[in-house]
Amino acid sequence: MPNSLDTSAQEALRARLRFYRELGIGELYQREVDPAEWLLAASEPTQAPPRQAVALQQPPQAATPGPAAPNAPGFVPNIDLQPQESEIAPRKPFPAPPPQAAALPPEQHFAALKLIREEIGDCTRCALAAGRTKIVFGDGDPNAKLMFVGEGPGADEDASGIPFVGRGGQLLNNMIQAMGIKREQVYIANIVKCRPPANRTPEPEEALTCSPFLFQQIDVIRPKVIVALGQTAVTYLTGEKRPLMGWRGTVHPLRGTKLIVTYHPAYLLRDPNQKKHAWADLQIAMRELGLELPSRK
Ligand code: SF4
Repeated sequence: MPNSLDTSAQEALRARLRFYRELGIGELYQREVDPAEWLLAASEPTQAPPRQAVALQQPPQAATPGPAAPNAPGFVPNIDLQPQESEIAPRKPFPAPPPQAAALPPEQHFAALKLIREEIGDCTRCALAAGRTKIVFGDGDPNAKLMFVGEGPGADEDASGIPFVGRGGQLLNNMIQAMGIKREQVYIANIVKCRPPANRTPEPEEALTCSPFLFQQIDVIRPKVIVALGQTAVTYLTGEKRPLMGWRGTVHPLRGTKLIVTYHPAYLLRDPNQKKHAWADLQIAMRELGLELPSRK
């Protein structure tokens, strides 16, 4: 561990400490930590590390829908329910989500995701294809226990092909790190894989056309917990339109995993006062994952 940090490193560390204070985390700083490790994590390239090549296995087999997972014991934190993000208005009833695919052994997850990406190809299945630069498939550990699902790519993501790499992505990275884990340990994807023009909310036709690929990814990865980031994500994950207030603060069963809902990082950037409430949501995820919760001062 270096004994001193240069100016830029110190500023990066201060920014991270400010972020943790905004979340209300105090005890974390009392633990012995390695700032150099934080800084390294904060500055690591967002490009996914090269995956170990694995032989292509059979794609996920279609299976009859399994019984819904029992609702997890609901940890309901004592949190205020806060103002909601703007709602979306689907034009017609949601179709049923595709049946859940059979589970694959962990060593086949990478290859199965690769097959899904190949199936998407140079996709023109919906209108978003016309304005995109790169398809943003997803990023992270194919065997992740925790998955984040956002709405759709923005300009930075469209240019890079990687989800959540702009300002919202940096905030998401901080949120993940506050949970005591690294971005490389989670999987991140969106409802739609191509950038909507001017970052508008995806149209229902676009979301419903693209989301089956996301469901395939979820069925391959089989995370223990999915965190839906914002109204659009939870609406199209569940097929149910409900104010965000009706989703937050408890655990919902989804395709054999546990769904937890919080605000989208872009919303938190617009209204930083909501960060503490997002942190309360993430603590629900941490409890479900068996992660140690930092105590508040
Ligand atoms: S958003 Fe999805 S369905 Fe639409 S063009 Fe892109 S990859 Fe295809």
